Amino acid sequence: MTKLDFSQINKNAANSFNEQRNVIKKIGKGGTVLCSTCRLPLKLSVSALNTSGLSCEKGCTNIALELEI
Ligand SMILES: [Zn+2]
Repeated sequence: MTKLDFSQINKNAANSFNEQRNVIKKIGKGGTVLCSTCRLPLKLSVSALNTSGLSCEKGCTNIALELEI
């Protein structure tokens, strides 16, 4: 019988969430984070609707975020 380890899945989700937060913090401080696909720098954009996003110039990375920065 196979046991599914949901705690591990949740842990991974939390890790990627923290990773996103770290990327945003780094960019917010003027640092540069490169897109893993096209190697262009990611840009942080905040819209009027209080949602922020993280995207590269080519659009291969486009992460919508709902964070209070
Ligand atoms: Zn890209």
